[in-house]
Order: sequence, then C-alpha cells, then structure tokens
Amino acid sequence: MCVFCEIAKGNIPSTKVYEDDMILAFKDLNPQAPVHVLVIPKEHIDCANDITADNSEYVKRIFEKIPEIAKSQGIESYRLINNCGEDAGQTVKHLHFHILGGVKMEEGLL
Ligand code: 5GP
Ligand code: ZN
Repeated sequence: MCVFCEIAKGNIPSTKVYEDDMILAFKDLNPQAPVHVLVIPKEHIDCANDITADNSEYVKRIFEKIPEIAKSQGIESYRLINNCGEDAGQTVKHLHFHILGGVKMEEGLL
C-alpha cells in the first residue's frame, strides 16, 4: 500500500486539517510555505493521468472543499499544485494537490 493510502487509513500519522468520507487534507511533512497542505482522495489514484469518469467524484469533492480547507488555514490566496509524473517531480504516486500559501509567491515557472 502506498504512503498516502496508509495515511488515509490512519496507519501512518498525519496532521489532519480536513476529512470526510472521500477525501483527506493534511499538513505536508516538509512544508515549502507557511501553509502547505496536501489534499488526497481516499481511493488510490496514481496521478492526474488516471482520473476517469469512474473516479472523478473524488476530484470533484477535492475541488469543492479546497476553498474551505484554505480558509480553515487562514488563507484565501494560494497556489494549487499537482505534479503528475516523474519529470514534473511527483514523488508520491497517489494523486494529491498541494495548497501553498501564507507568503507572497515569487513569479516564475509556477
Ligand atoms: P510530490 O513531490 O509527489 O508532488 O509531493 C509529495 C509531498 O508529500 C512532498 O511535499 C512531501 O513532503 C510529502 N510527503 C511525503 N511523505 C509524507 C508523509 O509521510 N507525510 C506527510 N505529511 N507528507 C509527506
Ligand atoms: Zn495510495
């Protein structure tokens, strides 16, 4: 089982900031900004290339809840990042969205 599936099942501890029946949001272990939260589907999906009509309900729920999750962390301006595949820097092969904020972001590739 992958590390984020283990976190979703509670087998690996995490600092949860939101949870419901379909998704989980928790603080990144190695934060890149004052607010750095990861939002994941509780069902394993490898990456954005594997989103289909059969599992897109999870993605829908994630995007419905992102504003609420961000607001709960005290931010309304944030950068939302998904890395898909190795060249993009995806290190955990379980679909996840980074919510980054709490600081003025540099302009650049992202
Ligand atoms: P990626 O590079 O795949 O887009 O992002 C993976 C993220 O997961 C990284 O920012 C990394 O710090 C975070 N991460 C990896 N393992 C763990 C873990 O066990 N717990 C938490 N909270 N974050 C993790
Ligand atoms: Zn997984």
